[in-house]
Amino acid sequence: MIHERKFQVYTAQTMDRITQISVLDEDQRLSMRAVAQVLPFRINNYVVEELIDWDNIPDDPMFQLTFPQPGMLNPDDLATLRGMLRSNAPGTALNAEVRRIQYGLNPHPAGQKSLNVPHEDGHAVPGMQHKYRETVLFFPMAGQTCHAYCTYCFRWPQFVGLDDMKFASKEVAPLVQYLKRHKEVTSVLFTGGDPMIMRTELLRQYIEPLLTPELEHIASIRIGTKAPAYWPYRFTHGQDADDLMRLLTDIRDAGRDCAIMAHYSVRKELETDVARLAVRRLRDAGATVRCQAPLIRHVNDNADNWAQMWRTQIRLGAVPYYMFVERDTGARGYFEVPLWQAYEIFTEAYRQVTGLARTVRGPSMSCTPGKVLIDGIAEVYGEKVFVLKFIQGRDPAWTNRVFFAKFDRHATWMDQLQPAFGEHEFFFAEDLRRMRETGEARVWLPTEVEALEETWRMEIEEPERGMGSNAETGEHESPDQA
Ligand SMILES: *Cc1c(COP(=O)(O)O)cnc(C)c1O
Repeated sequence: MIHERKFQVYTAQTMDRITQISVLDEDQRLSMRAVAQVLPFRINNYVVEELIDWDNIPDDPMFQLTFPQPGMLNPDDLATLRGMLRSNAPGTALNAEVRRIQYGLNPHPAGQKSLNVPHEDGHAVPGMQHKYRETVLFFPMAGQTCHAYCTYCFRWPQFVGLDDMKFASKEVAPLVQYLKRHKEVTSVLFTGGDPMIMRTELLRQYIEPLLTPELEHIASIRIGTKAPAYWPYRFTHGQDADDLMRLLTDIRDAGRDCAIMAHYSVRKELETDVARLAVRRLRDAGATVRCQAPLIRHVNDNADNWAQMWRTQIRLGAVPYYMFVERDTGARGYFEVPLWQAYEIFTEAYRQVTGLARTVRGPSMSCTPGKVLIDGIAEVYGEKVFVLKFIQGRDPAWTNRVFFAKFDRHATWMDQLQPAFGEHEFFFAEDLRRMRETGEARVWLPTEVEALEETWRMEIEEPERGMGSNAETGEHESPDQA
């Protein structure tokens, strides 16, 4: 029997009320408070009580995943902030210092603002990004927070007030309008923050309009979420969870797949009874669960953690999907893993699982030109190279193309790589320059898209229940009565 739990949240202001952190001394807590000025901190009672091993502090991966660590800031910045906190520096001076440090952490990587937001009739479409032809990202306004924050979050600027919330949308109408005009889109990905922070009633208002027959080309609705890991009760207990299951079933009954893109970083997140029940309920309601996370130093930079997670996912009927490379933002210096090592960890884990788990792809970099997979490390005619492959491209013509970069033991991100074999730039460099100059990154043509258009309606008749014996009454019915 899994009991319901009442959600209790802690932020930087209320961190000291977490009784468990008394295992840390005054000095460690001061550093933690200093880092929490710069990077977002938010945690809940489930993560504190069930997922963190307080006998293994600070090394515990769940502690590293959720609590600010001194190594996340450079030593000078940390010392400055610690000094200011200790001397009770005035708020304005502290804020100015905090902002200066935040702007030094590359808050807006990968052309997210400039290239990914589509313009229609000269206006930015609110709450949307459209980078890859088949998939639109949608940011519902009320879904822009989480049940807890990850210390490595690449969307951290929005949680510390660096982004105004204008990038998110209160309404679904502009999305629907856009999708009616863009039949090339077959998947809508709700993202945040975490859309599962929304009550079902609100989530339904965003999702239901997409189920209209006019948008039959939308084959899947995805919801990117960490709730199955950080607050599985969202799916298991209470009226709102039941309402959510009905919504998921409605999506399925409208002939679409609802894919829960679940973010699991550490095996512990899948090992509690309630976490497993959450996956089971999602599947019973007709949703698919696909699992993804970045590879993060101090958190999950070991192969056994990944192999174990993938095996558990298979056991639960969930699908391993992506292993990402830590992005070039925030406390990346603390978290990053060199690309060669990411490849080694991925490979060692991949070797330990069956083909059923090898639906996972990675390590993958979500960078400006696309999703770039580190597909191998090879030696070709005496030159050691990374074999790279686009698994998504800003230009669909790049997808599934391989290319080669010089091997570099220190490289942690795409922009540090140089073309191999004496090439002076990568094959897509000129096209990417043109996209930047013109600001138009959606290079696919509507004519290309017509071929993709299909009308497709699924009518599945539920088999009649009660044929033969009726379990409740013990009566028998003949098939032609039913
Ligand atoms: C990863 C990603 C998608 C989805 O790509 P799939 O390979 O279909 O999962 C869509 N848009 C953006 C911006 C992404 O980073």
